[in-house]
Amino acid sequence: MSERTLAIIKPDAVKKHVIGDIIGRYERAGLTPIAMRMLRMSKATAAGFYAVHKTRPFFDSLCTFMSSGPVVVLVLAGDNAIKKHRDLMGATDPAKADKGTIRAVHGTNIESNAVHGSDSPETARFEIGYFFPEMDLIEE
Ligand code: ADP
Ligand code: MG
Repeated sequence: MSERTLAIIKPDAVKKHVIGDIIGRYERAGLTPIAMRMLRMSKATAAGFYAVHKTRPFFDSLCTFMSSGPVVVLVLAGDNAIKKHRDLMGATDPAKADKGTIRAVHGTNIESNAVHGSDSPETARFEIGYFFPEMDLIEE
């Protein structure tokens, strides 16, 4: 069943000039970009996006990192897009991510880990709506 997920190429990956490599991995895996923006989040925008983590000890540092430079935000569509994308990303900590995953290849540490991906249909809906009005999503 075709599904949508939100991907963010984080500031560390944009600075490393690997936007093209990461989008190429999505396309080769059968995940189709149906919306895309490049933007720089304010700290408040990052805090709203990561509101589920607001009681975590790493929350403030995470919001500072996510607002430290431009990001690329995409909506990806495809069969099992949420899990497929999480599998391509690898574990949160690049040191623990499977060999060849995006975080293993491009991540620096548990915070600067190159990419974000929605973790469930509910979070995907919230996260897509946070950055894109429905009319900006290309029909598949
Ligand atoms: P994921 O991005 O794999 O879904 P989480 O939702 O748990 O991971 O965390 C959101 C983001 O917060 C991570 O991608 C990472 O950038 C950061 N983060 C998570 N855990 C830590 C930690 N222990 N220390 C610093 N940053 C963290
Ligand atoms: Mg998460």
